[in-house]
Amino acid sequence: MATGKINVQTENIFPIIKKFLYSDTEIFLRELVSNAVDASQKLKTLSSLGEFQGEVGKLQVEVLLDKEAKTITIRDNGIGMTGEEVDKYINQIAFSGAEEFVQKYKDSEGAAAMIGHFGLGFYSSFMVSEKVEINTLSHKEGSQAVRWTSDGTPEYTLEDIEKETRGTDIVMHIAEDSMEFLEEARISTILNKYCKFLPVDIKFGTKTEYIDSPTGEKDEDGKLKRDPIEVDNILNNTSPMWAKTPSELKEEDYDKFYQELYPMSEKPLFNIHLNVDYPFNLTGILYFPKLKKDIQIQKNKIQLYSNQVFITDSVENIVPEFMQLLHGVIDSPDIPLNVSRSYLQSDSNVKKISSYITKKVADKLNSMFKENREDFEQKWEDIKVFIEYGILSDDKFDEKAKKFALLKNTEGKFFTLDEYREKVKETQKDKDDKVVYLYTNDTEEHHSLIENATSKGYDVLVLDGPLAPHLVSKLEQGMENTSFARIDADTIERLIDKGEEVPSKLTKEDEEKLKPVIEEVMPKAKFSVDFQSLSETDSPMQITEAEFMRRMKEQQAMGGGAMGFMGSMPEMYNLVVNSNHPLISKILETKTDKKKKQLIEQATDLALLAKGMLTGEKLTKFLKRSVDIIK
Ligand code: ADP
Repeated sequence: MATGKINVQTENIFPIIKKFLYSDTEIFLRELVSNAVDASQKLKTLSSLGEFQGEVGKLQVEVLLDKEAKTITIRDNGIGMTGEEVDKYINQIAFSGAEEFVQKYKDSEGAAAMIGHFGLGFYSSFMVSEKVEINTLSHKEGSQAVRWTSDGTPEYTLEDIEKETRGTDIVMHIAEDSMEFLEEARISTILNKYCKFLPVDIKFGTKTEYIDSPTGEKDEDGKLKRDPIEVDNILNNTSPMWAKTPSELKEEDYDKFYQELYPMSEKPLFNIHLNVDYPFNLTGILYFPKLKKDIQIQKNKIQLYSNQVFITDSVENIVPEFMQLLHGVIDSPDIPLNVSRSYLQSDSNVKKISSYITKKVADKLNSMFKENREDFEQKWEDIKVFIEYGILSDDKFDEKAKKFALLKNTEGKFFTLDEYREKVKETQKDKDDKVVYLYTNDTEEHHSLIENATSKGYDVLVLDGPLAPHLVSKLEQGMENTSFARIDADTIERLIDKGEEVPSKLTKEDEEKLKPVIEEVMPKAKFSVDFQSLSETDSPMQITEAEFMRRMKEQQAMGGGAMGFMGSMPEMYNLVVNSNHPLISKILETKTDKKKKQLIEQATDLALLAKGMLTGEKLTKFLKRSVDIIK
């Protein structure tokens, strides 16, 4: 037996690595199983090149758990290593890689955060082991099997052993503080997370399956009896959907794969199969789920793989933020994994990948829109949050989305931005040639206002959902001489001011007489009285909230904008009094103050009611008064 000391500068890197990696210890299994898979695939390659003449047989990686001996073994029948190779790859390369890592990051605060994505390879076995053994026999003819042992310090032993089968066993003697990894369920969970789609069979124990009884025996119901048999428990699907050629796949295959990724999930709307090999390597399938209103909780569903090895499901910095609403898989060996997250952002490959994905998704949406607009419109409500989010957060996507982003009006009809402009550019132009887009965020609440607007020949858009306020500003910025006005922001005559004055029945003096009486009922601090000369058939009084004020309030509620310094925004409304309504003339002519006040109260309460603002004591009083009036 030979003993030796690995030539590293840092005396004992083991405790440092262990400390850093503590939060993400489980990746040791991913690292070792991937090494075993690599060793298997290398053998396959050598054989196909004719450099290995022997029998390849069935390649398989096995994970063995021995609770009594307190070991986990990763076994493969791949290329194996000769004594010299162990010395070269393990003593020199693996250890120096680990040392380099420690040198670089031991003083850096962010080490723990980035380390989960730093493949430490073989050395990560020491995170959970007090001793690691490598028993290996090279595929090369006439090789001598060897055993390498180390406790993670630079000392190791290397000796010849008897080993009949080709390949490598990595035997980890689990440390006292890592006993959790001797639980079958824990190992099973980790393997399922990282190894589900590895390209070589991963076996973990056996499982019971039932097969038709070979004797042909029937049970009481006359059905063929099923016999239990023990079979290898293979954890992975070696040829996942994304690695297949799109033309070979049917819609059902994609749906089935979605269920495999996210069991018990609602069927996705559609998918995009990504497949590039130049200028970088990328495959994957992205699914459009039905999005709910709360967009935050739906992120972190895309899984990132590197050559079928699961890396992470937090893909921020790799795909644009809005893309994170999608589900599915991205597999690319070109995404550097051994770097910090902030570095990823500036990596040119990652940037290319990110803009490629954005482009692909936009192209897919565009072709869906062009090929079957009706179907696209049907899906709109489910995908609009995604598209709106993209328009708001990604300029390139915004540019492309102009072709397929839709606006829906209160009749349920859909328009592209250009189509809508055509529709309203003449009818909704005001006296200063400004085009006004009318919208509502709640068709129920604004029912009477919408009816009033449409009866005048105007169109009203429905802009609801969590992003609508931002979208309104964005669209407005992108259009010349155009403004958006919510239908309750003012009377329709003012929202689209055609400059057609209706003569007022009230004189200036009348208004000045009436104003203070109204203000007694509706406090000045919250309502400002605004006499408007409207049609006799319009409501006598109406409460509106200026577009600008409301938007400021919305922005403040969303915590955005530079509003902080202004403190909280006061609630401010307009009380529009229709000078031409007979009721207003009646109020003016009423002699007794008591009667006058009663009429004003009734009229203002109706206005509050229409706005959904009549509640509590005021509502109780209103109900009583109304009964008094009709009885
Ligand atoms: P990496 O896999 O990133 O090269 P590792 O530290 O994981 O780094 O492994 C170092 C080297 O040891 C590998 O490149 C490989 O040559 C060799 N090796 C590790 N595990 C095995 C194995 N199961 N079979 C054959 N060779 C292996």
